Amino acid sequence: MKHLYIHVPFCTRRCSYCDFSIAVRKRIPAAEFVTAIKTELDRVGPLESLETVYFGGGTPSLIPPEAIGTLLPYVFNHTPPPYAVEVTLEANPENVTADTAAAWRRAGINRVSLGAQSFDDRVLQWMHRTHDAAQIARAVALLRAAGIDNISLDLIFALPESLARDWDQDLDRAIALEPSHLSIYGLTVEPRTPLDRWISRGAIQAPSDDRYADEYLRAHLRLAAASYEFYEVSNAARGGRRSRHNSAYWSGRPYLGLGPAAHSFDGRTRHWNHSAWEAYRRAIAAGESPVESHEELSAEQRELEGIYLGLRTLEGISSSALSRPLPPASALIESGWLVSDGTRLRCTPSGWLRLDSLVSALTGNPAIS
Ligand code: SF4
Repeated sequence: MKHLYIHVPFCTRRCSYCDFSIAVRKRIPAAEFVTAIKTELDRVGPLESLETVYFGGGTPSLIPPEAIGTLLPYVFNHTPPPYAVEVTLEANPENVTADTAAAWRRAGINRVSLGAQSFDDRVLQWMHRTHDAAQIARAVALLRAAGIDNISLDLIFALPESLARDWDQDLDRAIALEPSHLSIYGLTVEPRTPLDRWISRGAIQAPSDDRYADEYLRAHLRLAAASYEFYEVSNAARGGRRSRHNSAYWSGRPYLGLGPAAHSFDGRTRHWNHSAWEAYRRAIAAGESPVESHEELSAEQRELEGIYLGLRTLEGISSSALSRPLPPASALIESGWLVSDGTRLRCTPSGWLRLDSLVSALTGNPAIS
């Protein structure tokens, strides 16, 4: 496996829309975390040389840079050279200082994915974010000054109308910072989140599908005009700076995940760890496997997943790579949702808006809809 994901589950506060498996902590148990990840890595044993390492969360920028500076060499002690070419850290803007940025760079981090979400302080407060807009620009400048210029910004679109969020302005402010990569995610209302409760009691209205589609398509136009290429349904890059780590997921390559809730995939079987930090930590401390469960994908499931993942990407799918012919896609092409160059089939931006139903229509598999 050439791709390693390390899940850092800690956050200081839960964002209003977030249903991820996180551990909200005022004091981050960094030493326990480092010990647990090292122990899990020892259980896995030697790895092949890695192309990418990705610290995701949660909020990985909450653990001290020294913890990352301890973990990365430990990881590379388990792998032969060459060492990973892309080492990403997800960070919240308020955690970026001149010192942390320099320490991350020294530790080997060469790509940072910043959770910006919006440049409107009112909206950031509504989201329960722990930073303001000014901290985003400051974080980008500090990262560049430390030598980390491969920077991605996350933005959330399709917010409830009553917030009167100016999506175009947020896109323009993000583009003005000239990140090499942007990820845009539509707001979804997940059960048991603060947002879900606000909507249930009528304090705010759920965002409409029309707003979702309109803002998504506007992002495509604005980012294309600024030379960004959407190479995946939610991700755009310029200067060829796609996320190599996430691209490995979308092309079905094997990966190893360490930490609570982390998933691993060997090409046939997927397994995942206990999602709660305490359950994970206890299993590791007791010398037990942290794996909660696994699933083995049948050939049919792997093919279906390959179609779904392929259509997420700009490259789309090759019909000759499939074991059975796809049904005629002409109606979907005429609708403007798919394009074909004769050998490959890929989604247009409008197609990406209805990806699940397109995959169902192409495969006849109602499981995806
Ligand atoms: S920082 Fe990220 S993981 Fe943490 S609560 Fe907010 S959205 Fe969830």
